[in-house]
Amino acid sequence: MGEMNCDILIVGGGPIGMACAIAAKNAGLKAIVVEKGALANSLFNYPLYMTFFSTAERLEIGGIPFNCLAPKPGRQEALEYYRNIQRYFDLDMRLFEKVTSIQKSDHGFDVISDKSKYSAKNVIIATGFYDIPLYMGIPGENLPHVHHYFREAHEFAFQKVIVVGANNSSVDAALECWRKGADVTMIIRKSGINDRVKYWVKPDVENRIAEGSIKAYFDTCLTEIREDEVDIENADGKTTLHADFVLAMTGYQPNFEFLEKVGISLSDDPRLVPTHNPETMETNVPGMYLAGVVCGGMETHKWFIENSRVHADLIVQNILNNQI
Ligand code: FAD
Repeated sequence: MGEMNCDILIVGGGPIGMACAIAAKNAGLKAIVVEKGALANSLFNYPLYMTFFSTAERLEIGGIPFNCLAPKPGRQEALEYYRNIQRYFDLDMRLFEKVTSIQKSDHGFDVISDKSKYSAKNVIIATGFYDIPLYMGIPGENLPHVHHYFREAHEFAFQKVIVVGANNSSVDAALECWRKGADVTMIIRKSGINDRVKYWVKPDVENRIAEGSIKAYFDTCLTEIREDEVDIENADGKTTLHADFVLAMTGYQPNFEFLEKVGISLSDDPRLVPTHNPETMETNVPGMYLAGVVCGGMETHKWFIENSRVHADLIVQNILNNQI
């Protein structure tokens, strides 16, 4: 296992990890991106027919235009765009390689992956939040007909589908399943559809619920999942519903275990924000930086591609300043 040297080792080859690699390259620094899956692996795992809430130009990185004919791009176009970014910048990207540990060393950091060992002066953690579902902690959640990721609706056609949640992913899944012939019931903890749901999608789902096409239980919790039924609970008591499939679209969370293992402390509150200086993005470990959606801890809606692209320049500028 040969050791490779670099100025910056970037963990995660999502849009923001790539933006960091571009900023480093433009500054004449040697950066290596280590990505455990495919290029832009989170986007690759998005629902096949999803539409971004952002317009194309807000997903751009490295100053390269993102052309899109529709008002908002979809997954396919975004993957095309980020593949083009890689073609254009020829970033040193190691795909299907997982970073397993990062240790402080005399020259910076020893970074160990399942395939190699690196010696890096600085490290950027850009690991996102899409790898670990936020479980409800109820019995039956791991049964095979319970899905925490939604790809497409076809398999749910003519089936009784319970969709949990009222955020973008739940609403998109509920509408798509209903349009492909599923019998959809939404179980929603709060009293309405979340205000963060895409502004052009929210009235669509609200109207489908109002006309009775999609059934919805508000102020209601799912309490147990069994092979072909679920229990729900609300102010009226407990009810059992038939269910062929459960789409548990209850969100995702950053890999806190990994963050703590590499030495980054988390805020002592339910948000679990990884410690970092918002002006430089440097963590409590000098020379180790955070970039992208991972910065928000449990507040996974706080940072997204649009507003975290800027992390790349902040970090690289700080690394350059520290070199002087
Ligand atoms: P990610 O894209 O998640 O990249 C992190 C990468 O790190 C992953 O590829 C992962 O495989 C890799 N990784 C993790 N751990 C390791 C490890 N140990 N070793 C190596 N690699 C590792 N944002 C917007 O701005 N506009 C939108 O319209 C929008 N729509 C969205 C729609 C959906 C359905 C979802 C889920 C999110 C959406 N977001 C949107 C949010 C946005 O996709 C994410 O914020 C974005 O992916 C963040 O980019 P990132 O590079 O920080 O993280």
